[in-house]
Amino acid sequence: MTTIPLAGRELDSQCPYCSVQCKLRLTPEPASGGEPGEPFRYRAQGAPNAASQGRACVKGLNAHQHAFSSERLLQPLIRREGRLEPCGWDEALDAVAELWRSRIAAGDPDSIGFYGGGSLTNESAYWLGKFARIGVGTRHIDYNGRFCMSAAASAGVRAFGLDRGLTFRLSDIPEAKCILLAGTNVAECQPTLMPYFNEAKENGAYLIVVDPRRTKTAEAADLHLQLRPGTDALLAVLLLRLVLDEGLEDRAFIEARTEGFDEARRQAEALDPAEAAARCGVPLEDARSAARAYASAETAILCTARGVEQQTDGHEAVRQLLNLVLATGQIGRPGCGYGAITGQGNGQGGREHGQKADQLPGYRSIEDPADRAHAAAVWGVPPDSIPGKGVSAFDMMRLVHEGRIRALLVMGSNPVVSNPHAGFVEEALGRLDQLVVADLFLTETARMAHVVLPVASYLENEGTLTNLEGRVLLREASMPPPGEAWADWAVLNALAERLDRQERFRCGSAEAIFEELRRASRGGAADYAGISYERLRKEGGVYWPCPSEEEDGQGLLFADGFARPGGRAQFAARTEAGTGAVDETDGGYPLLLTNGRVLAHYLTGAQTRRSPALASRELESFLELHPRTAAALGIEEGEWVSVVSRQGEFAARGRLNAGIREDTVFAPMHWGGRQNVNRATRPELDPVCRMPGFKTTAVRVRPLRGG
Ligand code: SF4
Repeated sequence: MTTIPLAGRELDSQCPYCSVQCKLRLTPEPASGGEPGEPFRYRAQGAPNAASQGRACVKGLNAHQHAFSSERLLQPLIRREGRLEPCGWDEALDAVAELWRSRIAAGDPDSIGFYGGGSLTNESAYWLGKFARIGVGTRHIDYNGRFCMSAAASAGVRAFGLDRGLTFRLSDIPEAKCILLAGTNVAECQPTLMPYFNEAKENGAYLIVVDPRRTKTAEAADLHLQLRPGTDALLAVLLLRLVLDEGLEDRAFIEARTEGFDEARRQAEALDPAEAAARCGVPLEDARSAARAYASAETAILCTARGVEQQTDGHEAVRQLLNLVLATGQIGRPGCGYGAITGQGNGQGGREHGQKADQLPGYRSIEDPADRAHAAAVWGVPPDSIPGKGVSAFDMMRLVHEGRIRALLVMGSNPVVSNPHAGFVEEALGRLDQLVVADLFLTETARMAHVVLPVASYLENEGTLTNLEGRVLLREASMPPPGEAWADWAVLNALAERLDRQERFRCGSAEAIFEELRRASRGGAADYAGISYERLRKEGGVYWPCPSEEEDGQGLLFADGFARPGGRAQFAARTEAGTGAVDETDGGYPLLLTNGRVLAHYLTGAQTRRSPALASRELESFLELHPRTAAALGIEEGEWVSVVSRQGEFAARGRLNAGIREDTVFAPMHWGGRQNVNRATRPELDPVCRMPGFKTTAVRVRPLRGG
């Protein structure tokens, strides 16, 4: 609990962390004996909302500690003679705008880049996308959600015609008779979802978990397929093959509601099941049990998360799993469906309204003339004044490294820690003429900046967030920002004024921006037209698509048809990627490194490392490795080790765990500097969705004794 020097009052808020978006109530209580005038501290508890049903996990319950942290940035900083020093807002914003004006005047707005985040509210995310495109006029905007679920997004669009995290409601989960969780450690990453799965198990559901590690989630499974990292696509094809072998496909569904099955079947039948199982590192009989349980269940849900998606064939891996969903007809009915379990609090909404390089608000395409015309009409500009498609987050870093992007605004992200090949990214950002970071703290990225802008935290920032179900929720501000911190969107308004574009950025509140967002999304795939703050206050949350205020949003998708032309879903043929996409291991780099989250931390740890209660649970990074692997390397429990890849090196404390494969090591992603796992991860990207291959890096490990 955090001690704060104010007479307390109860605060209602919503967790700033994962995609469930649990409601929180903060209650003040005396710090010690309850003497009059003494400081109060807050105790948080879960409060009922539609998604979390009143539950909250340890992250949410301690989130306010970072909001009240003494490390909060209270005024802008500007670099003078190599040092960041406090300054006023005018000086900071003038410095930013002066350089931008010169790049725009030189006819090179594309040399200015914008890097957003999946924790921004829908309003700030929308405003940032609009600002980049018609405030500055650059094509270069993308966001950290590129690393979150771009593989699931591209796969969903191609298979179903629509990308929404869950195609079902959370309340459908207990009705599922089989649940297949692939590459998702819900128990630690989205803990308040576990009761939904536990309830399903109590109702008789069979739980299958696919993961190279025996995670907390895998411990709850009836069957754990402990595959070799990078073989998810191959395993998915194998599962389809085994379904076909037993004649468990849903012929009627395939014929009535899909296309492309014959090619998918032909390729699955070309597979040698024994060889495929061996390459995946799973017993063939276990794979057969999984295929049988999933396909023959009356109702079944299949979910993926970053374990499947963060690979250089992540798009392909998800599509192959969607083949399994379609071949068995396990979608579009209560208790059935596919779900990509979003990681970030607003990972869903953050990508719907213009932060992605290729999308305009409402999931409109930046390359489609009609879509461009719609956005242009809402924004009051000619369609051809909206720049074209930009590049993905890591591709932007490459442009920065090449000197083609000279100035970068980072809002709500810490790319020095979160990008793969972090050493390269740090070098790239060091080459910028101007790096501007808007954040709560002096993060690893902010420390490199020329200008740092203090912004509001979740307790101070009003706005909507869209949870993993596609349910839009309103988070009210509980208090004003501390010091001189501003809302993110207010920073953009002030910059627009300095660029003489203020007429396009007149909205002076989150609600006014949301009203414009409603118009911008109207008729798009992610249609928010029927959702208002008033409605959200009354109803608690509304699913998109919701085209009018008279309609309920759609929780369960694809009951009648898919969102593709003709209403049919599309099977994927198996491609080369189906053969696996791992980094090559050899004598020099014999182990595969995979990364992920732990219960107490979130993303790069910029916030959770500043919460004493969370930091004390995991103070430093660790490398999980099998005891036999450790013995072979002479590594003992708790000693520091060096992990070296072809890209770079990081250090962590060895943690022995017989629940991980012997050929695999795991490190969390929440620490920067020398402990940053992304110093080692590789820069190759998925060719379709541009997702980096975070989950498969060949490494060698050695003890750091005396070094
Ligand atoms: Fe809920 Fe996720 Fe926050 Fe935990 S981290 S309280 S599960 S929203």
